[in-house]
Amino acid sequence: MKNLILAIAATCLALPALAEDKAIELTGSDQMQFGTKAIEVTAGDKVVLTFKHIGKLPKAAMGHNFVLLKADTKVQEFALKAMQAVATEYIPADEESKKLVLTHTKLLGGGESEVLTFTAPAEPGAYPYVCTFPGHFALMQGVLTVKAK
Ligand code: ZN
Repeated sequence: MKNLILAIAATCLALPALAEDKAIELTGSDQMQFGTKAIEVTAGDKVVLTFKHIGKLPKAAMGHNFVLLKADTKVQEFALKAMQAVATEYIPADEESKKLVLTHTKLLGGGESEVLTFTAPAEPGAYPYVCTFPGHFALMQGVLTVKAK
């Protein structure tokens, strides 16, 4: 219920800029897979990304998040650090890592979802995204491509 309210609130907040919005739906499954490994946006787009865990397993067993990283991030290095950040649900809190995370959802369990609203990077390029739950990043990673405006 809380997620639903958050989703509605996020939708309402996004309304004034509707013409510019880029709506994206991304899923995470009990098979440890993102629904898509390639997302394309235009530089500066207002992105409304709905991330939904379509599985049934609880967060502790099969948690998923969506973590968008800077274009030049060494994904494996980041993910290995992230999976140790248990206290912050696998989002590393050190200064170096914080600079690499452009935006992220919280950790979701089966049936949960979160709507994330963010502005696409101004710089065209390939921005990796991962799930940082321990052991997931090797399968659960994709690329958000930012095209020039
Ligand atoms: Zn995951």
